[in-house]
Amino acid sequence: MQPQDALVLQDLQHDYANLRAVDGVSLSIKAGEVVCLVGPSGCGKSTVLRLAAGLEPLQKGRVAMRGSVVGDPERRVRVPPEQRHIGLVFQDFALFPHLTVGANVAFGVSHLPAAARMTRVQETLRQVNMEAYVDAYPHALSGGQQQRVALARALAPEPSVLLLDEPFSGLDERLREQVRDDTLGLLRRNGTAALLVTHDPEEALFMADRLYLMRNGRIVQSGPPQELYFRPVDRFVAEFFSRVNEMQGVVRAGWIESPLGRLPAGDWQEGARVIIAFRPEAATLLSAGAAADGAQALTAIVQDTHFLGTGWVVHVLARDLDGAEVELAVRLAGRPPQAGQSVRVQVPPEALFLFAET
Ligand code: ADP
Repeated sequence: MQPQDALVLQDLQHDYANLRAVDGVSLSIKAGEVVCLVGPSGCGKSTVLRLAAGLEPLQKGRVAMRGSVVGDPERRVRVPPEQRHIGLVFQDFALFPHLTVGANVAFGVSHLPAAARMTRVQETLRQVNMEAYVDAYPHALSGGQQQRVALARALAPEPSVLLLDEPFSGLDERLREQVRDDTLGLLRRNGTAALLVTHDPEEALFMADRLYLMRNGRIVQSGPPQELYFRPVDRFVAEFFSRVNEMQGVVRAGWIESPLGRLPAGDWQEGARVIIAFRPEAATLLSAGAAADGAQALTAIVQDTHFLGTGWVVHVLARDLDGAEVELAVRLAGRPPQAGQSVRVQVPPEALFLFAET
């Protein structure tokens, strides 16, 4: 544990009745870092955030903030949430409906003298572009505006770490992107450390300096977004971020035989069954018979094409190693070939993921 760590969670474990919701979770957030805890619904993310905040009693493990332990059941340490220097933002905004915007934001800085409190409220509302609404009541604001006020309220006391639980999920898509952009800009400008819980892979990639991917109460991989996207440790991680094409491979005579050609076997054992996977945008399509240019390639027939605005998705039908038909998706920036055409699907070797068949 380093004093510069805004938040450190060590080996947290949490049971609800007979369900182990959190199972050995450790993570750390440095000062100024935006960290995302991401994973499918029900994997335990909110529970981790609630344990970090002190909203849920800690059963096992340790929570420390800026070098001091704030939760440790073995040492009977349980600093209450309001003394942890955290800011909280939830999906449902949770503004006080009977208080004005200004009074909502002032709530967390009531210890300041009146004049300083007023200045702080105005400053924070200005940062989220809501200073004109200081006297408005929450019900008169749009969802995006309410979320900006919620963010201002959480930031006004200058917390050591901001904890955000699905903060953009209640907003419609266009607004969500805008509020997300604005929030990230604000965190960066203030150098605020943040732990953001989300089930949305795109949001996690967009927001995070580092992310932790959770499954069934455990962290399966952590690192910078590009590391998880391009070097997933298993199929679950690979498939969490986008559709992944999968084909069969088998190790024979020191090579992995696959529909894409022979690949170096590396550490794979003779006879091992390997899943050869790649993302749709990793592949390119060439006309049939074109040279494969050092990359792995296979022949396929175009099934259909779908325009996405930013490009195309092309579905092609190929043969797997055992001869069965397999449908692959390829994302192209430019014009796609036509349905029925025979094509070469080419994938650079570094874009292939190799997973053990389970
Ligand atoms: P996530 O935030 O990833 O959706 P949660 O932390 O909310 O996951 O929940 C993890 C698991 O614990 C889920 O199976 C959920 O149903 C269960 N759970 C969450 N809160 C409670 C609770 N208060 N009582 C019993 N089970 C709960």
